[in-house]
Amino acid sequence: MNNTRCAACKHLRRKCPSDCIFYPYFPSNNPQRFAYVHKIFGASNISKMLKQLPEHKRAEAADSLYMEAKFRVQDPVYGCVGVISSLQQQIQTTQSQLAETQAHMTFINAHQPNADQHQLQQQPCYPQTFSSLRSEEIRVEDTTHSFLNNNLLQESPQLPDNR
Ligand SMILES: [Zn+2]
Repeated sequence: MNNTRCAACKHLRRKCPSDCIFYPYFPSNNPQRFAYVHKIFGASNISKMLKQLPEHKRAEAADSLYMEAKFRVQDPVYGCVGVISSLQQQIQTTQSQLAETQAHMTFINAHQPNADQHQLQQQPCYPQTFSSLRSEEIRVEDTTHSFLNNNLLQESPQLPDNR
């Protein structure tokens, strides 16, 4: 028997056995995490899914079940697919902006008289466009990164703790 019940056993109002499958992945200080997966998958299915996996893969599986459940609750139609498509959209937009700028630069370089080419390289106009594009790219990566941080790693105790 565990001294402190895990979030799952607390939620299900039962004793937490020492070999509780939920205990390592659903800590009592984050009841919301279990509430999401229970609502979407059901406790018994989560237990089955975790038991089917080798122990070293269970934490990752619990994280991914949590992510999927959380976004399914927040967006019942698209779930985490909604987030993925939105990020893919951002990547596509940025890639087409980059292609457009590169084509523009090629055009300008090809039509620039040789005498002015040195001056053009000195001018920050096009490199500036390019660097703003670079920061756009970085922004997409940052979004992905913070998306993971916010949703995978951060604890968000929004629902009241069911004791
Ligand atoms: Zn437990």
